[in-house]
Amino acid sequence: MESKKACIYCGTTDELSDSDIIPDALTNSKIINPNVCRVAHNNKFSDMFEDYIIKHLAVITNELDIKSSKGKNYAAYDASILIDNIEYVTRLSSDTELFRNNKIISSSDGKIKLGPLENIRRFKGANEDNVTAVDINQVEIEKRIVLKMDTFFSLEMYRLMAKIAFEWYCLHNGIQDKCAKFDALIEFITTGKGTNPVRFISNAEVYAIFSQIFAFGSHTLLSYIGIDDSVNIVVSLFGVSAYNIKILDKPTDACLNNVLFQELTIDAKRNQFFCKTVEELMGDFGASFREVILPNGLKINIPYSVSDFSLQYKMWYLMNYQIFQTSLKCIEEPNQEAIELLKKQIEEILQSSALTIRGLKRFVKEQEYYFAQGNSLNPKGTDKKSTFLYYCLFVIGRSADIHTFDDLSSHMKEKFSEGTIEIDENTNRLFLDEIFATEDYFSLIKKGAEIIKNWGYN
Ligand SMILES: [Zn+2]
Repeated sequence: MESKKACIYCGTTDELSDSDIIPDALTNSKIINPNVCRVAHNNKFSDMFEDYIIKHLAVITNELDIKSSKGKNYAAYDASILIDNIEYVTRLSSDTELFRNNKIISSSDGKIKLGPLENIRRFKGANEDNVTAVDINQVEIEKRIVLKMDTFFSLEMYRLMAKIAFEWYCLHNGIQDKCAKFDALIEFITTGKGTNPVRFISNAEVYAIFSQIFAFGSHTLLSYIGIDDSVNIVVSLFGVSAYNIKILDKPTDACLNNVLFQELTIDAKRNQFFCKTVEELMGDFGASFREVILPNGLKINIPYSVSDFSLQYKMWYLMNYQIFQTSLKCIEEPNQEAIELLKKQIEEILQSSALTIRGLKRFVKEQEYYFAQGNSLNPKGTDKKSTFLYYCLFVIGRSADIHTFDDLSSHMKEKFSEGTIEIDENTNRLFLDEIFATEDYFSLIKKGAEIIKNWGYN
């Protein structure tokens, strides 16, 4: 007999809806729990805590080219922009927006306005003495963003993490109705009251272990049984902040799958495995290899399937299981160490670029306005990410051998040894020098952009 399907929060069978386990605006890779009622729970979580986190992490999602499927634009964030040593404060959803659509911005002291020359000249009192022309392709532009560290320790963040852990764990355990074992957890998620089961993981070593295997900007979820027998979920958000969520004091017969692992990358790839126990995983892992005897008599183990990418994740999980159980430094209130760690993680995200088809297509679209105006790259440009993307267009336009996104990836991988490309001042300079040393660089860039437009997402 099939059991009835009901909301995992309240047990109602009315209007069950698909809940995005991780809010749509925070990921390019949807995971869904279909057992959440629409009115009282799915919809209300947005106002209760999700929108708050989405808004406060906008600069990260924007930088990672993550966009809500509901909205047309990438999330906007507050930024201060230093142009020719004058600070302007504005709200942006892309760097190119700064000088578009006749936008006029004010300096932080309110005394100076910046915008298209013809519009500024129309200002009351504008004259030759107080209006100066600035060539935006020639001045130095530096962007500073505001990101509140409190966000990572807010009640909204803790409720969101508890919600993600709960819906994900239920999904992979076939829970399709309200289960009393989760009452305390449900109370915390739905009201923000009761015991907070969420802790921020504050040891840098753990983040280093994560970064050994997780792709740049990924979300990762995994479960483990603590040495006190509790059931825990670890959620790593963009690889920037990680949380431990204790969802049950001890395992329950209703939920037998306690070895769960899923990585969701920014280009929507999934690496995952789900099984009951660590012992089962070990057996499964061992059975993935066969023994081969080499001509010299040496025995080695090789995987049956060389394309089974889950093996490296299983091995990583097994090797680090004890660290999850015993070495997570879990805190509820921020301390100096945690803030420093977060700053470092965020800096890394904002200064690195992962080469994704989505990011390239977005860049091309946003640059079209400038291409039409006949200008693009600023030779004094300090925005390393945009230099890097211009360089990609330039390389595609120049080369006869780059026809697909994979061709481009291989080409860039030859230049950089890893999938994540970190561009320092020096590389930025080298890219710019190489581009500007080529006479028809602008037509090559435009040619590259046209080629990218025809590439599919997969
Ligand atoms: Zn409900």
